[in-house]
Amino acid sequence: MANQHLLEPAGARAASQAITTLKGVGPQIESRLARLGIRSVQDVLFHLPLRYQDRTRFSPMGGLTAGSDVLVTGVIELSGVRMGRRRSLVSVISDNTGTLTMRQFRFTATQQRALARGGLIQCFGEVRQGPTGLEMVHPEYRLLHSESEATTEQTLTAVYPTTDGVGQRKWRDMIRQALPRCATEVEELLPKGVDVPGMEISLADALTILHCPPVGTDPLLLMQGSHPARQRLAFEEMLSHHIAIRQRRSHRDRLCAPLMPPSTRLWPQLCEQLHFPLTSAQVRVVEEVFNDLAGTVPTMRLVQGDVGSGKTVVAAAAVLAAVEAGCQAVVMAPTELLARQHFDSFEIWLKELGIDAVWLTSRAAAATRRQACQRLASGDVQVGIGTHALFQDDVHYHNLGLVVVDEQHRFGVEQRLALRDKGRSDNRAPHQLVMTATPIPRSLAMVMYADMDVSVIDEMPPGRQPVETVVIPNSRRQAVQERIRESCARGMRAYWVCPLIDESELLDLEAVTQRAESLRQDLPELKIELLHGRNTPTEKDVVMNGFRSGQVDLLVATTVIEVGVDVPEASLMVIENAERLGLAQLHQLRGRVGRGDQKSACVLMYQAPLGDRAKARLSTMRETNDGFEIAQKDLELRGPGELLGTRQSGLPQFRIADLTRDHMLLESVRDVAAQLLDNGETKLIDRLIRRWLRTEDGFYSA
Ligand code: ADP
Ligand code: MG
Repeated sequence: MANQHLLEPAGARAASQAITTLKGVGPQIESRLARLGIRSVQDVLFHLPLRYQDRTRFSPMGGLTAGSDVLVTGVIELSGVRMGRRRSLVSVISDNTGTLTMRQFRFTATQQRALARGGLIQCFGEVRQGPTGLEMVHPEYRLLHSESEATTEQTLTAVYPTTDGVGQRKWRDMIRQALPRCATEVEELLPKGVDVPGMEISLADALTILHCPPVGTDPLLLMQGSHPARQRLAFEEMLSHHIAIRQRRSHRDRLCAPLMPPSTRLWPQLCEQLHFPLTSAQVRVVEEVFNDLAGTVPTMRLVQGDVGSGKTVVAAAAVLAAVEAGCQAVVMAPTELLARQHFDSFEIWLKELGIDAVWLTSRAAAATRRQACQRLASGDVQVGIGTHALFQDDVHYHNLGLVVVDEQHRFGVEQRLALRDKGRSDNRAPHQLVMTATPIPRSLAMVMYADMDVSVIDEMPPGRQPVETVVIPNSRRQAVQERIRESCARGMRAYWVCPLIDESELLDLEAVTQRAESLRQDLPELKIELLHGRNTPTEKDVVMNGFRSGQVDLLVATTVIEVGVDVPEASLMVIENAERLGLAQLHQLRGRVGRGDQKSACVLMYQAPLGDRAKARLSTMRETNDGFEIAQKDLELRGPGELLGTRQSGLPQFRIADLTRDHMLLESVRDVAAQLLDNGETKLIDRLIRRWLRTEDGFYSA
């Protein structure tokens, strides 16, 4: 399965010795490690510690604080079994600075005898606040015959992420054997003279520092990833990914896509049909897209434009160019709701032009689905609109020429791969247009989206009034409800959003259901409906249609309405617990109002007290309506990983690097990559990619 293939470890294909060449690693440990994707000695070396323990020195008992892991040594002052709620063996230990209690709930008679008063002991464990003072529960301990037997470690002790049946001792033992083999196992691949702090550290030294940090290394620096040794590895990993992305692009450039000249018939007809003139930004981006499509190199263009900037009509232009050239086009959206909306707009536009479209989602009835698939396969229909169902294995196309993906970063990796391979045969590939409302910072786009061209719709349709935003505490809910009552009495429509309370969808549902109930009680004259992720598509349709037509005054919803819902008559947005949401999400939600010509408002309610970051987020929302400015702020507050949601964004899943933390390395990554490519360092590049990429197939859509 393609999926399986994706999870292959970095080192699998590199020339590295099998893990069983390490002493103490037999077939059983081998198969357990395989669960972590670890097969070679090199894989072991790149398996970095999760955290560190400091056993390099004894901590005086007088200075202990709860929560820290420490090594202590002292004399057993008294030892005995306490009955309490649970029977435990309690031993009080002291050094010349203070005392500490050691508590064990499981113990043998032999242990109890050995822990006799007057004995010398050394313990390592976490200090906790106990009923009678600081204590260690089940520490690792060793009884000593004399003080001279007390031993400390020469390096910080690494704690590894692991799997069942492979203990920390085993890890440390494997690492101890693997490190001396660095010279043969991990070749130095970074070119000399990279002018970035940390890059002067050799790979072998970096690995040694990370696995066995010498006394005096700040464990915090190591764990946060800001230690130069860790940066050294992160840089190399990002470099490899970036080069792979650029290679993918040059590979794609050699494929062939159908030639689609700019639409001279259908697109002008659609423009006449629209009841508005295009903005000059839209005109420019359509031109850029037409330009791409008129070539046989497969287009891979990212169209960025703020919420409401009018990306849909740009997509329509591309679809019409495809249709006019006799090709099929599909438009894919991440949610059923959003796909439905696209279908509704496209259907109206296309009907006028005499073009048919089919609708396809995973929840379509079997017969409907079969019929849609047949029509797409036979070429009887030229446009398909839907969710990722459009790219399931059994969906075939007659001559797919264009794929438009809305909000691509919300699709999972697998869906993206399926998408990439669809319509591709031998050396042919369809054109791809990706639309997003999430502004991607330039430095990030240049490195991690290096395989895409970028167009920006940097202008809003005229007449849009900025949404007035106020921030008020949850405790003033009554006043907010009054405002809704008044607005709705004047014929306006409003949203009330209850964001995720918990990671649990069920609790989420409960909260939103309760809120709808209480609002119905407090505002009996209004027609209030509820919308959430558990609704069936038909239920959602009914609710949305009611809201669109004005039968429903107030729509209470979870964040399902975040993307793309377009009801121009809605002019008030209330977001409860807004402090829980990120800026990008708040901006998306607020974008649901201010789409028509009346003045709109957004009320951000929060649960006091507010933390500093939440405060900063909410005031940014109050101060600006500009998506790019908001993204910039988000970047400052949270870093790009968070901004894009690394997990869904299609950004590579790094093993060591972290875009949130390491984005300041991006520029150097690009420079060094260019240097390696320009110098034709193909062998080196090959090795880098094999070392760091899980598969030559990669994660990115090409
Ligand atoms: P988004 O970029 O968020 O996908 P949409 O394409 O949904 O934005 O457009 C938002 C709204 O603006 C739609 O109702 C659309 O018809 C309208 N619109 C798009 N372009 C223009 C324009 N040039 N002038 C006026 N309204 C426009
Ligand atoms: Mg849109």
